[in-house]
Amino acid sequence: MSYLTPAAAQALLTELTCDAQLAVDPREITRSRRFEPHDHVLLGDIVVRRFRHGGRWKYIEQDIRQAGHALARFGLDLHDVVPVQFYGAGTSAGLRPERTDWRGAIGSYLSDLAPGQSTAPASLAWTASLWSSTRSLAGTFPLRLLSHADGQWLLPRAYVELLDRWREREEDLTARARICKDCGAQGPSGYEWRTLEGTGYVTRCPACSAAGLPHYADQLAGRTYKWAKQSAHRAAEYLCRLCGARRAYVWDHCHQPTHQYVRGPLCTSCNTTEGRGPEAAFLQRDGAARYLLHCPGCRRDRSLPDHHYAAVAGAHLAQTERRCRLCTAPPTVTPVPGADLTRGPLRYTLTCSRHPWETPWTASVPADQARAIVTDLVEAVLADDSAR
Ligand SMILES: [Zn+2]
Ligand SMILES: [Zn+2]
Ligand SMILES: [Zn+2]
Ligand SMILES: [Zn+2]
Repeated sequence: MSYLTPAAAQALLTELTCDAQLAVDPREITRSRRFEPHDHVLLGDIVVRRFRHGGRWKYIEQDIRQAGHALARFGLDLHDVVPVQFYGAGTSAGLRPERTDWRGAIGSYLSDLAPGQSTAPASLAWTASLWSSTRSLAGTFPLRLLSHADGQWLLPRAYVELLDRWREREEDLTARARICKDCGAQGPSGYEWRTLEGTGYVTRCPACSAAGLPHYADQLAGRTYKWAKQSAHRAAEYLCRLCGARRAYVWDHCHQPTHQYVRGPLCTSCNTTEGRGPEAAFLQRDGAARYLLHCPGCRRDRSLPDHHYAAVAGAHLAQTERRCRLCTAPPTVTPVPGADLTRGPLRYTLTCSRHPWETPWTASVPADQARAIVTDLVEAVLADDSAR
């Protein structure tokens, strides 16, 4: 079996579909969204599966060839057209339709091209703008197949049928990806039960995840990430140390240059929120600060990794700052982006949580004060631990 990188798969698909009647967008193959609902890419109604191989997403060459040939053969009679209603058209461009709602998606593409216009301008420039549009849907360029006559939008019948089949397949794959692999329970929509394992994502409910896997019990305490990678210990042999609901995927470690200690096995979801720090409100999760202190370096220095300072100092401001003229509710504290402890104070914008229309104010926390606040938090967590 021959694997292709996404870039190589895109190049092959471009080559195979260059003469296709259907306006194919081969970039669909390399697109990655933050949270994929399933491990497949759809090109029209053709389903191509992605696999994890050697730590990266890959495609099987044979699958790409088959998809390319099928797309190149797709017959599209441009004279057999049907009228289509795009209910997004003419509404505000900010309105984002559901993912598989292709009529809404095309409607919003159109209103982005000509904001505020619900009917088509019949100019040559307008036709050219449809043709040059790179907005794609289901791996195709819908606007390039669009025409307009007698006040109606028209699309080739075969293309409308293709998009309907695309929607069905997409929804079916998403629904199947929600089902626990072991007990068949239906999970929440989205991502929560899915975890990277082997050649792709696997869906397991919290009970089934916990049933087959031991909790981590400090087997790698005091070890560095480098040591863990070279050892025979696999994070995937344990439950995630933080959420306890999914199989772990990585040895999470402290990135402070002089620390690098393993904190525990984490699932991909928990690992991502830790890395994004304040943006993902990581420290607001139960046990998050305690978890970070599994780094012996952080415990010794009475400190946390740098990228959590802004959140800790911000939480301190929320507890202490009271400047609303109408009440004493805690303010909403938003860090000013780009805060860097090595270059000066952390800056925040504050608004009253109860009266958000009142004038916002700003506050800043000098670097040494931020360090002191973090140390206080660490001391409190450690004292609480020893009292248990
Ligand atoms: Zn289950
Ligand atoms: Zn987790
Ligand atoms: Zn550390
Ligand atoms: Zn107020």
